[in-house]
Amino acid sequence: MPGDKNTYGALDRYAIEDRNAPEFIPLLFQKMMPQLSAHALDMQMICRILEEFAFSFGKLSYPFNIGASFLSGVMPCLYYAKNTIPQETIGKIIAGKIILANGATEPTAGSDVFNMQSTATPTEHGYLLNGRKVFITNAGIATHSLLYVKDSNTHRIELFLVDLKQDGISVSASFNKTGLVDSSLGEITFTGITCTENDRISQTKSGREIFAESMCWERMGLSAVHLGVIEYILLSCKEIAEKNNTHDQSTWQRMAKIGARLKTLKSFLYDAEPHTDVMAKASMCKLLSSELFIDTANMLPGWIGAEHLSDSYMREFILDAPATSIYSGTNEIQHEIIAAFFRIKNDRGR
Ligand SMILES: Cc1cc2nc3c(=O)[nH]c(=O)nc-3n(C[C@H](O)[C@H](O)[C@H](O)COP(=O)(O)OP(=O)(O)OC[C@H]3O[C@@H](n4cnc5c(N)ncnc54)[C@H](O)[C@@H]3O)c2cc1C
Repeated sequence: MPGDKNTYGALDRYAIEDRNAPEFIPLLFQKMMPQLSAHALDMQMICRILEEFAFSFGKLSYPFNIGASFLSGVMPCLYYAKNTIPQETIGKIIAGKIILANGATEPTAGSDVFNMQSTATPTEHGYLLNGRKVFITNAGIATHSLLYVKDSNTHRIELFLVDLKQDGISVSASFNKTGLVDSSLGEITFTGITCTENDRISQTKSGREIFAESMCWERMGLSAVHLGVIEYILLSCKEIAEKNNTHDQSTWQRMAKIGARLKTLKSFLYDAEPHTDVMAKASMCKLLSSELFIDTANMLPGWIGAEHLSDSYMREFILDAPATSIYSGTNEIQHEIIAAFFRIKNDRGR
C-alpha cells in the first residue's frame, strides 16, 4: 500500500475494518465538511483537499460520497441560502451533521435535466412539491436533500432544501450495484410536501443557473477525486513492480503513458490562470479524468497480473471505472459543452 501523504491534514489512513462500523460514514462527513466548507470560496483548495482525501483512501466510493454531497449540496446552500435558511441549519450543514443529497435526475430527465416533471405549486403559505428523483447519491444516508422542481405557474426551475424525514417523502432502499459499492444510490419520492419561502434556495438566482454552477464545482471536484484515486493505483503498480524486481519495458511504458496524462491533467486542473469559460474547463477536466480512470482500469489486467487483481483496491477500481463516465453529466454531455466552447471560438480554440 503506498505511503501516506497528508499535506492538508484532511486525512487519516482508515483501516478497512473501521469502515464497516455503522458510525463510519457519518463521522467521515463530520470530519470532511468543516474542512471543505472553510474553503468554499477557493475551488483550487477544495480540489486539493478532495484529491488528497481520495489518495488517502485509494478508492472512489467514500471520496465520491463526500465530494458529491459537498459540491452539489453544501456549496449551493453556502452560496445562496446563507441568509434564508436558519443559522442553526447552516451550522449543522457545515459541521456535517446534516447530510445533503442532491435531487435533480428524473426517469425522463437525466441528460436533459430541465425536462423535469417534478413541480412546485405556489400556495398561500409557500409551496406544495410533488415528484420523484432517481439515481440519488447518498440517498440512504442523507438527512436532507436539495430538490430541483418546476414552478407549475411560471415554469421557472426552483431549488428547495427539504428534510427527508417529513411526511410525504419516501426514500427507496439503496440499489445493489457492481461498482461504487460503498456509495448509497436510491430514489426520493415526494407527494404534496409543504415548503416555505425560506426553504427556497433559488431566490436570488434561478434553479437553472444554480444547477449549472453546481455542476461546474462538481465536475472540477470529482475530477480531483479521480486523480487522487488514479495516483494511488499508479503508486501501487510501481510498488508491485519494484517488489517483483520487474524490468520489462512494457510495465514502465504503461506507467509512463498513465503518469504523463495524470501530470498534464493535474497541471490543467490547478492552472491558476483564469479560464475564459469555467464551464468548458470543468467539462474538460471531468471528461479527461474519467477517460484516464477507464483507460487505467482497462490496462490493469495486463499490467499487474492475476495475483494482484484480487486485491480489493484494484478490483474496486476496475468495477468503479464505468460510472465515472455517467455521473455529473455523461461524457457525451461533456463533449457537447466542450464543442459549444470551440464553436464560439476561432479554429485555435481562442
Ligand atoms: C453513480 C451515479 C451517481 C449519480 N448521482 C446523482 C445524484 O446524486 N443526483 C442526481 O440528480 N443524479 C445523479 N446521477 C444521475 C446522472 O446524473 C444521470 O445518470 C446522467 O445525467 C445521465 O442521465 P440518464 O441516466 O437519464 O441517461 P440519459 O440522459 O437517458 O442518456 C442515455 C444515453 O444517451 C446519451 N445522450 C443523452 N443526451 C445526449 C445528447 N444531447 N448528446 C449525445 N448523447 C446524449 C447519454 O450520454 C447516454 O449515453 C447519478 C448517476 C450515477 C451513475
